[in-house]
This record gives sequence, C-alpha cells and structure tokens, in this order.
Amino acid sequence: MVPIQMVDLKRQYSKIKPQVDAAIMDVLESAAFINGAPVQQFSQELGQYLGTKHVIPCANGTDALQIAMMALGLEPGDEVITPSFTFIATAEVIALLRLKPVFVDIDPKTYCIDPQEIEKAITPKTKAIVPVHLYGHSADIEAIMDIAERHNLHVIEDNAQAIGSHYTKKDGTTKKVGTFGHIGCTSFFPSKNLGCYGDGGAIFTDDDTLAARIRMVANHGQSQRYYHDTVGVNSRLDTMQAVVLRIKLQLLDQYIASRREVANAYDTAFANIPQIITPYQAPNQLHVFHQYTLQLEGADRDKLQSFLAEKQVPSMIYYPVPAHRQKMFEGMTAINQHLPVTDTLTGKCISLPVHTEMDRDQLDHIIYSIKSFLN
Ligand SMILES: *Cc1c(COP(=O)(O)O)cnc(C)c1O
Repeated sequence: MVPIQMVDLKRQYSKIKPQVDAAIMDVLESAAFINGAPVQQFSQELGQYLGTKHVIPCANGTDALQIAMMALGLEPGDEVITPSFTFIATAEVIALLRLKPVFVDIDPKTYCIDPQEIEKAITPKTKAIVPVHLYGHSADIEAIMDIAERHNLHVIEDNAQAIGSHYTKKDGTTKKVGTFGHIGCTSFFPSKNLGCYGDGGAIFTDDDTLAARIRMVANHGQSQRYYHDTVGVNSRLDTMQAVVLRIKLQLLDQYIASRREVANAYDTAFANIPQIITPYQAPNQLHVFHQYTLQLEGADRDKLQSFLAEKQVPSMIYYPVPAHRQKMFEGMTAINQHLPVTDTLTGKCISLPVHTEMDRDQLDHIIYSIKSFLN
C-alpha cells in the first residue's frame, strides 16, 4: 500500500506533470516572473469560475485578509467579529492592524461562526464580520449577510478552506461561497483544495470601487506608477504559481468530487459507531471537504491518535488551541472568553486524511484501524 498522507501532493502532481512542467518551462523561457500574462489569465478564469467580477491575486491567504481589511479603511480600535475556532491568520491580521478581534462561538454542527452569537456581540464600534468557511463547509452566509445589512457592517469571507463550495439561498438562487460578502479571501497554500506550488492567495469582490482600492493597497498604495496615494503592502502572485493554478483550476471540481467520495466512504463506515459524530452537511450547501473532521464522544483522542500512528494512519487536530486562548491575545481587551462550544469541540475533534488521490485499500485500512480501536 502507498503510504497514507493527510494530503498526497506528490501523486496529484504526477498526473499533471507534463502540463505543469511545460507551463513552468514557458515561464522560465519568457522570464516574465512577475505579472506575466498567466497571472491576469488565471484571475479572469477564477472570476468566471466563482461568478465574481474582480479577482485580485496576492502573495498568500493571510495577506488577502490583511489587504481586504486595509482596503475597507478599518481604523485602529474598530471591532471585528470573527470565530476563535479557526486557523490563526484570521484573528492575527485583525490584531496586526490594531483592530479588535471580538471572538464569537460556533455552531457545533458546522464548526462555523454562529449567526445568533454574532448578533449578540455587535456594539457601536463593530465595523466588520469575518466568517470562516471552515473545513470546506460554509458558515450560514445568508443569515450573516442579513445581520450585516441590518447593522451596516462589512463582511469579509475567509474562504481559504472552501473554494468551490456553493450555497443555495432561501430564494432558490445558488452562488459560490466567497462571493456573498463585500470581499472574499482565499489561499492557494499547497495543501488547500486549490493549491499552488508555493505561496499564493486572492481577493474577490463585485464592487468596482473596492476592487480599485484592493489593487492599490496590494501594490504599495500606488494609483499610477510611482505615485503612492496610501500606505499599502507588496503582495503579488508570481507567474510560476499562476501557471500551476490555471492547470489546477480546470481540475478543481474533479478534485472536490474525489474528496467528497472519500468523505462518503467515511460517513458510511462510521454511521453506526456511537463514539463518532461524522461531519454535518447542510442540505443547501456543497461541502468540499478540505478536512474530514470527526467529533469523538467518550473515546480518548490522544490514544486514538497514537494507535493510528502505529498503524501508519496520520491524523491531525485542527486546531489544538483556539485563537482566544493563544498567548498572542493575552491581556487584550474586548475579547470574549466565554466560548463553550469552541472550547468543547477543540477537545473532541480529529481530522482524518482526505485528498484527491486516496485508494480504496488506503481507505479500508484507515477505516479498519479506527473501528478496531473503538471496538
Ligand atoms: C490557510 C488559511 C489562511 C492563510 O492562508 P496562507 O496562504 O497560509 O497565508 C487563512 N485562513 C484560513 C482559514 C486558512 O485555512
């Protein structure tokens, strides 16, 4: 059996090697390493795929979030509502810009921010909501947009884990996740569902004015060459990454289907195991399974992890410490410390390997190993 990994990028690459190698050679020959034509081509293609007007590429997903917040003109002290149950980048960027992260609890089914808790956390200083579509399942983005509209707040979607996912609104219309908010952000970190071969990220919006501001912030606050109107950053997607992403974007739906097949196999295998709660999938959404994350009931997670490791089955805890308990936020005010769902799920969740290259014998081995531990 091929060794099991959380994500098998090597085998994925082997299937697209001829195209990728040729495209990278073309970049080398052209020497257009920065802002080569493929960067613009990829942005347009991703815009078409998502159904959004503007896609502004940048250097990584963390920059995407930072640039989005800078472009919205958020000021030090402004409060930004976000989940604590997420990868740290979301909260870190808020604090870096001297904004105040206000953490709210999550929905125990979806692991995503709970709209009712958002409503309770709004104060006159609240300026924005940053929901995270965690593990490939969207937050309840329609409810979040309703709240934002009523309170006149900006919404930046952190879509680093859910690209390709879609959400059907109550009126029956379906849109891609990441295109509901005023701004959507994503990451092309190699292990993400649409990953490049290095760092990369992108920002999406339908708003022309915002798009112009985002472009300006991402490019040293420059309005025309060597005229800098505002303090910005330098954040670009390089041409090598763009050619890889152009190839992989064509395969994204196929990649999602492969991930969903793995998830289905796990769901079926674990359906009648009392110690396992399998991931919830809202009927109006497409879960793209960036992670397949279980909740354990009355089973020892540490022991399960070491048992699996002995059987060469990797597993991960995403994330062992929620943002509100990280040292970086010690002593910061306006941080909600009472997040019972977040704290409980942090201790109960475990993520299993899910990727585009999983074999049946690998799956069987993982399932068999988990079942033999729990029996
Ligand atoms: C990966 C990730 C990011 C950051 O992306 P980078 O490209 O690594 O900077 C932000 N938010 C979430 C939820 C992520 O999973």
